[in-house]
Amino acid sequence: METLGIDIGGSGIKAAVVDTSSGEFITERHRIPTPQPCKLPAFQDALKAMLEHFDWTGPVGVGFPGVVRQNRTLSAANLDPTVVDIDLGEILKDFGAFEVAAINDADAAGLAEMQLGAGKNALGTTLMVTVGTGIGTALFNKGVLVPNMELGHIEFKGNSAERLVSERARETRDLSWKEWGKNFNEFLKYITFLLQLDLIILGGGGVKKREKFEKHLTVETPIEYAEFANRAGILGAALAVNARQEGL
Ligand code: BGC
Repeated sequence: METLGIDIGGSGIKAAVVDTSSGEFITERHRIPTPQPCKLPAFQDALKAMLEHFDWTGPVGVGFPGVVRQNRTLSAANLDPTVVDIDLGEILKDFGAFEVAAINDADAAGLAEMQLGAGKNALGTTLMVTVGTGIGTALFNKGVLVPNMELGHIEFKGNSAERLVSERARETRDLSWKEWGKNFNEFLKYITFLLQLDLIILGGGGVKKREKFEKHLTVETPIEYAEFANRAGILGAALAVNARQEGL
């Protein structure tokens, strides 16, 4: 099914039309900067511009950086509070979308990797961790998603974890790769202890330079890197439309 996948991030909103059976991108990826601050009217304008760019009236899957239930946003740690408690389905349908499935952005990236990428055929318990403006987490057991885990906000060293281990934390706190890598490793160890993970998949812009921090990752759980890199969020958002039809 040809579906428009939209990945809403703290700094950019990215989208493409995707063939959900093969995972192939049918169009170029298009990026619009996330409005700063991301208040509701500007946010809606950006979504409208995205649908207009693709001249799209078909199904839309959207990944949102916060808790999403039945298309309604319930949190957004790194966007403006005015985009919380809105129905992304209604908004996108008003702009011409035919059918909408909105899910958490990390859950979207995880769906892409589990179905077509690094987690394909993974049994047991897998956690996808996305490192960017925030820390996103998506938990799967035998390939089935447990949505909205939000482990980026567990208490870690007296703080919300993402304040120490996100890409933004590394930049704004001026952490060396060594300091960041050690913190990140401890975070992964802690989560592994809590959930007894069999596989960790790392994705997001913050792990692109893996040669800078990999040597500090001593966590015993096997680690894979996202195959779809910065495309996982778009692809997974599109896959969410099918998954929704199947009960997600
Ligand atoms: C949000 C998550 C999101 C993650 C990555 C966190 O701050 O709470 O819902 O998945 O950032 O965008």
